[in-house]
Amino acid sequence: MATDAIIEVSEGKLIEGINNLFGELLKKGLVDALLIPHELPSGANVVQTLITSPEKIKSINPLAPVLPINSARIVSAMTKVASSAKKIGVVLRPCELRALIELVKLKQASLENLVLIGMDCFGTYSVCDYGKFAKEGPSPTQRFLDNAKSGKDDPLLREACQICEYSVPINADLTIGLIGMDLNKGFLLHAATKEGERILEGLGVKAGSIQGRQEAIDKLVAQRIKRRDEVFARTIEQTHGLDKLLPVFAPCINCHNCRDACPICYCKECFFDSPTFELEADKYLGRASKRGALRMPTDTLFFHLTRLNHMGVSCVGCGLCQEACPNDVPVFDIFRLVGSRLQKVFDYVPGRSLEEELPLTTFKANELEEVGH
Ligand code: SF4
Ligand code: SF4
Ligand code: SF4
Repeated sequence: MATDAIIEVSEGKLIEGINNLFGELLKKGLVDALLIPHELPSGANVVQTLITSPEKIKSINPLAPVLPINSARIVSAMTKVASSAKKIGVVLRPCELRALIELVKLKQASLENLVLIGMDCFGTYSVCDYGKFAKEGPSPTQRFLDNAKSGKDDPLLREACQICEYSVPINADLTIGLIGMDLNKGFLLHAATKEGERILEGLGVKAGSIQGRQEAIDKLVAQRIKRRDEVFARTIEQTHGLDKLLPVFAPCINCHNCRDACPICYCKECFFDSPTFELEADKYLGRASKRGALRMPTDTLFFHLTRLNHMGVSCVGCGLCQEACPNDVPVFDIFRLVGSRLQKVFDYVPGRSLEEELPLTTFKANELEEVGH
């Protein structure tokens, strides 16, 4: 059974070629529906859309370099109560797929009857930048692809993307491979599971392979790790110790947007929305008079430390927490750094495997000792 196929496209028609592929999946009944990014009429953003009719494929844009939501949240909302008896192809970037695997382990999503279609990811712009590029020119996606062909990271990519080491999806049934391909000529389809092989067979594509893909992936990952380590060093320098950490979180207004944008924070009733934090004015005054002044709103650092403690081990580094912050708190920088260290302690990679148990559900007493050093 073939596991790799090259889909050829005519010069400069990559977007069209990929969209045609998704149309074929629906036309041939290989999936009953697709959850896929769809362009807004303004062209200024995309929105995940559940499509059942091949007619509606013409406005999809899974290559649009923008991530308005981590779609693991949408898949969770769709499957948590009950999964569908129909096959749904969900088209995800690597950080979305990794978050979905974490949510399955946290019993917040089901993979039943889903076909996981992962896209290689060169990165994404912020929603604001993407919207600006859409106004300036005809296609921010084409501009982005032209840049990706040069092999250099665009300095305007979101920081989370500039330091992301997971450009290739893990755990996809079918991967749309772009890295290492001549994007003027085509793309790779790679089946990693029986479900993926069923799709390849149903599409009737010829087996094929490319040279040099792994080298191109290794090169991109090395570039990102280098940048990641620079960002980590800068973050340590800026936040090490309470004296530095407090001013970093000082602009936080406790809006909790970072939590709401995070695919991993799933609690229906967050402790920080509970009446515990609704105090009488005199209690605030009492706290203020102990020190002469009380920063308002209170308990912001407590919120971040608790959130880190709850989900740090599963942080997939999508960066949407920081995108959602109205006050430019470098919340991603801190969560990514601490998450990465935590994950190293437990030798845990979020989204790597469904079989790998979540460390904080299986820790042993002697592991805690190790963490304490
Ligand atoms: S964090 Fe990684 S996978 Fe997610 S959008 Fe950025 S580059 Fe892609
Ligand atoms: S903490 Fe931030 S970077 Fe980590 S998974 Fe949540 S939104 Fe993504
Ligand atoms: S870090 Fe930003 S997004 Fe998060 S609660 Fe504070 S102000 Fe809101």
